[in-house]
Amino acid sequence: MNEFELIGRYFNQPCLTGPFSAVEDVILGIGDDCAVVSVAEGFQLVQSIDTLVEGVHFSVGIDPVLLGWRALAVSVSDLAAMGAKPHSFTLALTLPKLDTEWLTGFCQGMAELVSHCSIPLIGGDTTCGPLTISLHVQGVVPVGGALLRHQAQPGDTLYVSGTLGDAGGALPMVLQGASIDDAQNDIERFLLERYYRPQPRLKLGQWLREHGATAAIDVSDGLLGDLTHILQSSGCGAELESSALPLSPALCAVYSDEKARSLALTAGDDYELCFTAPDKTFDVNRSPMPVTAIGKITKQPDLYVNGQMSDPEQRGFRHFS
Ligand code: ADP
Ligand code: MG
Repeated sequence: MNEFELIGRYFNQPCLTGPFSAVEDVILGIGDDCAVVSVAEGFQLVQSIDTLVEGVHFSVGIDPVLLGWRALAVSVSDLAAMGAKPHSFTLALTLPKLDTEWLTGFCQGMAELVSHCSIPLIGGDTTCGPLTISLHVQGVVPVGGALLRHQAQPGDTLYVSGTLGDAGGALPMVLQGASIDDAQNDIERFLLERYYRPQPRLKLGQWLREHGATAAIDVSDGLLGDLTHILQSSGCGAELESSALPLSPALCAVYSDEKARSLALTAGDDYELCFTAPDKTFDVNRSPMPVTAIGKITKQPDLYVNGQMSDPEQRGFRHFS
């Protein structure tokens, strides 16, 4: 099988390329030098690219179906954090060898998310080398409407969606090579699902954009680290209480209350949204999914957790450090 047969067999398949709702905006997909897309009048394109390297971002031997879902889900989560509706994506894949079983699994995992989120694959690049996956995703927002990091205001309430710390709670199992099917019970299964099958909060992001949220970010590196990005770009601080953090029953069944709250503060990979909104205009009870108020935005540019100033150096994961 040559490169073009590979692209035709694995990537140019309807389960990846559509039909989906965004497809009317795809004038030309896989097959030419470039894809051609249109953006409806009154909308802007938002774009993001993420690269995953084997051994750095995922372990050697990970189930390719789970990898396909997770790789695309974490990129689409960036669209959710902007309040965007998915438009399309491209895939640059570097493979050490032509492994048809791996390719079938990887494409199946991506295809599950593609149909879940209605985001068609419109092109890419395929090369030989150490296993590396780059995903470039595009979404649309009404002109000027993207939900940004830098507009949090003192007095805003700070919220998170869903529950936090679950993916971090699964990490010891993940590091031992556990897949979802290795779960011994429903609790382990829940935590492993949270790590391997993150759900981009697209509906919530779009709802937040329409209902007056001031800033948002997706929690990939841990709440404190990601919240710090909002605070630094908005030039303000925050006070939050760890007792207010939403924890799942599964996390609390496995870990002490103290450990569970520490995971919720610092562990990454949950891909929930952390966002700010003024109390006056914002009715949290109408949110399309559960969200929890965890603190307040302050004028003074420091982050206080349970009344203690948090050390910026201990707030999140960084490459090159
Ligand atoms: P070119 O040489 O013009 O860059 P390529 O040979 O890299 O074209 O790719 C041929 C076509 O297949 C292009 O339309 C490209 O977008 C698409 N393609 C290549 N690799 C992938 C991939 N991994 N996923 C989706 N589309 C791909
Ligand atoms: Mg190319």
